[in-house]
Amino acid sequence: MLKQKTIQVKVGNDLLIGDPSHIVIQTMCNTHTNDIDATLAQCRQLAASGAELIRITVPGMKDVPCIGEIHDTLRAEGIATPLVADIHFSSETAIAVASIVEKVRINPGNFHPDHEEAKARFAKLVSVCKAHGTAIRIGLNHGSLGKYITELYGNTPLAMAKAAMEWLALCDENDFHNVVVSLKSSNTVVMVEAYRILQKLMQEAGCVYPLHLGVTEAGNGDSGRIKSCVGISALLSQGIGNTIRVSLTEDPAAELPVAAFLADRYGGKSKSSLISCTTKDRVAYAEYSSPDRTTLMLDAACDFGRALLDREIDDVVFSGNYIADNGESVDIAESGFGSYLQDEILQAARRRFYKPEYIACPGCGRTMYNLQEAFETVKRRTSHLKGMVIAVMGCIVNGPGEMADADWGYVGEGNGKVSIYKKNVPILRHIPESEAVDRLLELIDAEVRQ
Ligand code: SF4
Repeated sequence: MLKQKTIQVKVGNDLLIGDPSHIVIQTMCNTHTNDIDATLAQCRQLAASGAELIRITVPGMKDVPCIGEIHDTLRAEGIATPLVADIHFSSETAIAVASIVEKVRINPGNFHPDHEEAKARFAKLVSVCKAHGTAIRIGLNHGSLGKYITELYGNTPLAMAKAAMEWLALCDENDFHNVVVSLKSSNTVVMVEAYRILQKLMQEAGCVYPLHLGVTEAGNGDSGRIKSCVGISALLSQGIGNTIRVSLTEDPAAELPVAAFLADRYGGKSKSSLISCTTKDRVAYAEYSSPDRTTLMLDAACDFGRALLDREIDDVVFSGNYIADNGESVDIAESGFGSYLQDEILQAARRRFYKPEYIACPGCGRTMYNLQEAFETVKRRTSHLKGMVIAVMGCIVNGPGEMADADWGYVGEGNGKVSIYKKNVPILRHIPESEAVDRLLELIDAEVRQ
């Protein structure tokens, strides 16, 4: 049985996750780990931009010495930001890297198809982490749960939370408590529900582990920021969550200001620019006076995301003003920004769809093509497909599993080739990148005409 009341996880010498006064912000490199110079350069930039934890993918054993060199070089330069090794399937790689970095992120259910064997491998990793003072993140994304748990509970928020509880119990049996959990989904409703169930289950068990929050594959630009804020703020506003990553299909440094905004707001260091709000017939009428466009957008997503997700309101209408880059005051309603914001926030909360729903991973060291460019092209060419869910994923190893409820998937294979998926089934493989969007559109057109 779980024993302790609350847990604080120590990552490296100085960082605590679970400190009620501090929400830790983190991001992930999108360089190839074996390109040591590029990864080092990105780590330096991210540490200087405020990342408190930096995650680096370790696809296989050959990458273990690379992350070791990156770690040692950063420490020699006086950069103490803890590193998290991102492992997807290989327990051997997780065990090998656990003595090198400060934290390891794994999904133990993927260690082996046989559940008992997966448990044995996880127990081995736990013993190595315990010996070296290494923290673990159990990261169970929607769509990448093991067969064992989905057979019991389906691919549901409850399954995500139940799986987490089982792995936490195994940590407890081994008297290991340096564990953080994440239950991410690109669907804000699923993500919020999964974390809430897990929080309740942990409270009932008498032991609350810190939670890492994130809306995975949120996309980019305004939509990615709004979707992340809607999902993450719904939980932080209820006191759930201790560390956050805002996943954007952009330069990882671009994630940090959004994460810092959320950490400041829910750490009590900043306030919303909302000046008044009334509700009539389940529609909120919100007036803002914001210092800039981005603050308005993030404030509005945080102020109304949870109420929309929880169906306390059905709509929100914006008025007031924000200050543009040229110093002029912009009327939110007259400029049209208010209705755009309304559409974006309602779509992020999955209450009304005014354009396609895009799922795009942020990319990492496993990405073998220009993901950001491909995503922009797919968005431009499919913008008319209102309500359709289209995924653009960085790698063929994890992308198909992680795009969960997408109608169509565009998945980079590497070597200039792309696979097209319909739901979770590959329809076309090895398509040259130059033709892939045309082929995707042909398939969608053919289906629409049927
Ligand atoms: S799906 Fe994207 S973020 Fe996930 S492992 Fe593949 S490239 Fe990296």
